[in-house]
Amino acid sequence: MASSIPPPEVLKNPPNIPEKQLFGPGPSNMSHEIRHSMDAPLLGHLHVEFCQIMDDCRVGIQYLFQTKNPLTFAVSGTGHAGMECAVMNLLENGETFLVIQNGIWGLRAANLGKRLGLNVQTIILPEGSAASLEQIREGIIKYKPKVLFICHGESSTGVAHPLKGISEICHENGTLLLVDTVASIGGTEFDADALGVDCVYTATQKVLNAPPGLAPISFSEKAVEKIKNRKTQCVSFYFDALELGNYWNCFGEPRRYHHTGMISMVYSLRAALAAIAKEGIENEIKRHKENIVYFHQKLEDAGFKLFVEDKDLRLPCLTTIRVPEGIEWKAVIDKLMAQKIEISGGLGSTLGKIWRIGTFGINSDKTKMDKIVSALKDATFSANSKVN
Ligand code: PMP
Repeated sequence: MASSIPPPEVLKNPPNIPEKQLFGPGPSNMSHEIRHSMDAPLLGHLHVEFCQIMDDCRVGIQYLFQTKNPLTFAVSGTGHAGMECAVMNLLENGETFLVIQNGIWGLRAANLGKRLGLNVQTIILPEGSAASLEQIREGIIKYKPKVLFICHGESSTGVAHPLKGISEICHENGTLLLVDTVASIGGTEFDADALGVDCVYTATQKVLNAPPGLAPISFSEKAVEKIKNRKTQCVSFYFDALELGNYWNCFGEPRRYHHTGMISMVYSLRAALAAIAKEGIENEIKRHKENIVYFHQKLEDAGFKLFVEDKDLRLPCLTTIRVPEGIEWKAVIDKLMAQKIEISGGLGSTLGKIWRIGTFGINSDKTKMDKIVSALKDATFSANSKVN
């Protein structure tokens, strides 16, 4: 019988995939090694060689987060999967979830909490700022949450939220500390164990320079205790941290099939973690911090104003710039894109007000930064970028 739907014409030609310079808020460019790590043949998701690669990734993720937590693995899915896995496992229906909301990622965590039937409370802050320890203490005493959420690298505003001293307040009050490091890990200091973080997740497509698709995550002993003492099962089977922990060999038990691991993505994660181990995480962070000072100076010299006024709160891997008065922000982005350079506009409440430039991992490089500043300056101050 002839099929009634013919093969799509579009699939007869190869796709158009140009090489671009990805300086948006992610994904960033891949290194040669990471790109080619995915050329390797597929293995089965429980083959001994693949299990070894998963074990290598686990120690690499522990290094990345600076933690000895046994329950450390990578969720199959992007950064949102890390967020969902964290919130779904740490909290049960009706429990209180306190969210610091200084940009879109707090808003997203709060939204997820509401979908899960949690009692969501928020500390809402002006964009471009961070919560003080006093504000956090007040919120924790007032709401007595089971979990406090903070986005370390708020990619919608460019703020690096300070984390020192927060876990002490949390732990004195029986609260677990959950931190989103999707846009910050590897680009600025983060030491999960020293900071007393109970759950941290990230994603592969920013400082790690790997493709999007995996969300490294880690749970402290306190977090594991909370998960093991749940009255109800985690609402998701796919994101159940104890099931995933078994598959990732976190408990030293025989591995069970849970889902088909993302074989080629895991190869790329291993290559990304190996690159960080080779450079050394402290060197990687130092490079981002040194280069960002250079980049910010160049931008200011070119006549741009940075969005985050407090220098100590600026993320070293993602810069936010105020769109100058009278300039059509989208026209500038389009002009850069025509040169195969990606930068991005604002997100959520910063849309239309700022541009966001990610300089993640291998893209944190002074020569590349010089090129972006020059291209951005040309695109902004040329006649046809003015608002009509
Ligand atoms: N958290 C932060 C801070 C992010 O920047 C992003 C992605 N830009 C996410 C979470 C969500 O990640 P993903 O798009 O990979 O799902």
